[in-house]
Amino acid sequence: MSVLNDNIARAQGYMARFAAEGVLNHIGGETVPALSGQCFETISPVDLKPLAKVAKSGAADIDRAVAVATEAFKTWGKMPGAERRKVLLKVADAIEARAEEIAFTECMDTGQALRFMSKAALRGAENFRFFAAKAPQAEDGLSLRNADQVNITSRRPIGPVGVITPWNTPFMLSTWKIAPALAAGCTVVHKPAEFSPMTAKLLVEIAEEAGLPKGVLNLVNGFGEDAGRALTEHPGIKAIAFVGESRTGSMIMAQGAKTLKRVHFELGGKNPVIVFDDADLDRAVDAATFMIYSLNGERCTSSSRLLVQDTIYADFTARVAEVANRIKVGHPLDPETVVGPLIHPEHEAKVLSYFAKAREEGATIAAGGEKVGAAGCFVRPTLFTRASNDMAVAQEEIFGPVLTTIPFKDEAEALEIANGVQYGLAAYLWTNDLGRAMRMTDALEAGMMWVNSENVRHLPTPFGGVKASGIGRDGGEWSFDFYMETVNVCLPRRLHQVPKLGG
Ligand code: NAD
Repeated sequence: MSVLNDNIARAQGYMARFAAEGVLNHIGGETVPALSGQCFETISPVDLKPLAKVAKSGAADIDRAVAVATEAFKTWGKMPGAERRKVLLKVADAIEARAEEIAFTECMDTGQALRFMSKAALRGAENFRFFAAKAPQAEDGLSLRNADQVNITSRRPIGPVGVITPWNTPFMLSTWKIAPALAAGCTVVHKPAEFSPMTAKLLVEIAEEAGLPKGVLNLVNGFGEDAGRALTEHPGIKAIAFVGESRTGSMIMAQGAKTLKRVHFELGGKNPVIVFDDADLDRAVDAATFMIYSLNGERCTSSSRLLVQDTIYADFTARVAEVANRIKVGHPLDPETVVGPLIHPEHEAKVLSYFAKAREEGATIAAGGEKVGAAGCFVRPTLFTRASNDMAVAQEEIFGPVLTTIPFKDEAEALEIANGVQYGLAAYLWTNDLGRAMRMTDALEAGMMWVNSENVRHLPTPFGGVKASGIGRDGGEWSFDFYMETVNVCLPRRLHQVPKLGG
């Protein structure tokens, strides 16, 4: 049996239970259907065949989950951080023990290639370990003194929170939001994306089997406009951590306004990779292609705009086209596959529509630009050359393996193009001139910048975007600032003069 056939057989084994039971909600430790009894079907992007029926929840299911999360908060929120650490470390170990099941399920549910998803569980476990280690100090604050008084700050978990996640790398992203919330002492109601519900169910089951008390993490499936909306509007939910599209972020902000919801948004991007002619071009080609063609290009920090200095533009883009043409598109469970099918036919149609747009606008399609095969959502890695910054392919987030390249003359022009979009999530800069790197990173409008590197994550650093790419930062202490309230207590150091009135 080939490796691929063997992997498909094992994946079918892991997913048989979902086909039989459906992907139901998980509230207070119980697997439950939507109260309405309604379901919707989730399909695999590999062959568009149904994978499972998913609970189609609404406001009543959210009410039920919030009530449970509120009750669980009374004990989880008060548990010493060192105790929470123990539980969360066990969750991390349990995630790693189920790494293959998580990876295979994610591949079939999302179309992401196994070569990347094999690390999904490891990265999820790492998120749990990192925030678990910080749990004992999460409440710590500052001591701020003046002559008369000492102010002591401390942090408390904000309460039950809502976590709403998208369909790209859903397992890893969910742990990135849920682990710090739990470490901080919050309880969680998680609403995963309707296109990719499966690994969220694995996560809550794994966490409870490892010892997470029931009701601390709850899962409610459904569509954004009903289950998602109800979560953002619920008065019992103190904050919403959201990852998804910019226009959804703005809807959530409006929905949460009535209940003064604290929000944290990780939104879209159209991230530039800027290559100057003095750079190490071999490394720059590898990094630029990795950051757009890995993870199907369905990645918020993908380098979807390649800005190349005009002196090397023709040669550099020809090398990128060569890489794009060599990339294997195929079944996500084939270990050789780099680009698997896009998440869903709706998303595939969106990505394909940009091929026509690029042609209409006058860009050149130097690689790809077509669908692969009749079945499934397979699209060839694509390269648009000679684009200009006003084209839709240069401005809009395509969220597929599609790279738009634009030539530039000098630093000033590179900056003007790089900053000339509504987004500001990440930027990548390739130059061997330190002064230029300093000048450019000072002026680039992006929350995260990498110089002479692809995106390499370091969990203590701040993650997030500026402009339409987001509000707030994750990572290290920034995550705790979001999931906790900082309070101040002022104590006397000596008797100061209290103002007397009416005397
Ligand atoms: P999306 O905004 O369509 O959906 C994300 C989630 O929001 C889903 O769970 C959906 O059901 C829910 N939702 C939709 N409407 C809602 C509403 N009115 N109220 C409450 N919830 C609602 O995004 P997507 O298409 O699933 O994901 C892709 C997007 O996510 C891209 O724009 C990508 O850049 C972004 N993303 C950003 C980051 C980051 O860190 N900045 C990371 C990953 C993905």
